[in-house]
Amino acid sequence: VTLEVGGAIGPRASAVVVAVGDELLSGRTVDTNSAWLGRVLAEAGIPVLRRATVADELPEIAGAVDDALARAELVVVTGGLGPTPDDRTVEAVAGLLGTPLREDPVTIARIRERYRARGLGEPPRSNFRQALVPEGSEVLPNPRGTAPGVFVAHRGRWILLLPGVPAEMRALVESFLLPRLPALFPGRLAPIRTRTLRTTGIPESALAERLAPMIAHPAFAEVRVAFLPRATGVEVGLSIPEGEGAAGALSGLEEAMRREIEPWFFAGPDLVDDVAEALQAAGLRLAAAESCTGGLVSGRLTGRPGSSAWFPGGIVAYANEVKAGILGVDPGVIEAFGAVSEPVAHAMAEGARTALGAECGIAITGVAGPGGGTETKPVGTVWVAAVTPHGARAVLHRFPGDRAEIRERSAQAALYLLLSLLREGGPSGPGSATRNGVES
Ligand code: ATP
Ligand code: MG
Repeated sequence: VTLEVGGAIGPRASAVVVAVGDELLSGRTVDTNSAWLGRVLAEAGIPVLRRATVADELPEIAGAVDDALARAELVVVTGGLGPTPDDRTVEAVAGLLGTPLREDPVTIARIRERYRARGLGEPPRSNFRQALVPEGSEVLPNPRGTAPGVFVAHRGRWILLLPGVPAEMRALVESFLLPRLPALFPGRLAPIRTRTLRTTGIPESALAERLAPMIAHPAFAEVRVAFLPRATGVEVGLSIPEGEGAAGALSGLEEAMRREIEPWFFAGPDLVDDVAEALQAAGLRLAAAESCTGGLVSGRLTGRPGSSAWFPGGIVAYANEVKAGILGVDPGVIEAFGAVSEPVAHAMAEGARTALGAECGIAITGVAGPGGGTETKPVGTVWVAAVTPHGARAVLHRFPGDRAEIRERSAQAALYLLLSLLREGGPSGPGSATRNGVES
């Protein structure tokens, strides 16, 4: 259904997103703004019907906004608000609406102030281009940059112009648009409540099978369930239209699912967050020994603030000489079993905790490819090992994917193995090994 501008409007409000920029079309920049807006606006109850991506050209921008106004009551435009001559969004929209431009004195003052605060003196004349806004529009101060957002009403519809810089765009949506939506579309928003369950170490199909009975349960009929496989694990997205009983249905299903998939569940957002909590709860420290992941695990562990309390360090043991010389892996064992093997993985984990003075150790040794695979150890063959005061375990994986993906999956698998051991807690038998033929 195509709506006339200012014509009949449906019971539910909807939006169109227009992303402006040559770099988005050439692929130099990936359009993350539209993806983010799609999610946030859907959750706020004003779903995006359509997206357009257009060049930094007046007719392209004006054409896309014109088309958007015919389809939806909210048009969100990102990009092209900056000071350079290729930033034409305001000019294009003002031209389309037949509105003259005015210079906004508050923005002028803000630009001057930002320059002064950084010791840069008087701003170049071109910067004041950003203070040109359509007559009658609302100017939205940009807390993170100089280009303000611009909000224009047009025959019962609204156009929101936002900077292209993702952090600036998000800040204005959160501070201005989301709080304003209920007043703009009274009774016409259909907000959605969402929840994400994160899992790792279980394939999508096995997960779906386990969750099928509760998804089919009549009590949760209103909840939509999406399986989103990633290299770090499968996310389960739950969503339900906001309303009476929505919160209850959502948390009911979430809890039922969580009970069913407890061994693979992690709270996240990064698995490292759960590892950190488990270590701290047990009063343990962790050291890492990484071969094919080259520090990915250590990078993620140290990405968490406060990690020095439980992570003394990691060793990138890429060459066999480092595995032997620094981690104390017996060269005879490397010779006999190969660097990618269960005994080497175990010895690396032991060596890491000994060398670095931690109670727990994890290790990764594998073939990330594209070269280096053999008949018995093809690309994707990875041993991960973990050791805690209560036990040790190693797991063989055969990961699909390219080098980057294999490395990412390996790091996640090692962290997951350690977390599993920590969750089991208590003393267990001697080190055991699991072989996962095809693990994804
Ligand atoms: P500026 O004042 O910085 O010039 P602007 O509103 O003119 O802001 P652009 O020039 O279009 O924005 O883009 C600024 C930066 O934001 C660029 O690095 C660009 O790659 C990035 N960017 C623009 N649009 C998007 C988008 N849709 N998704 C992700 N990044 C984007
Ligand atoms: Mg720009």
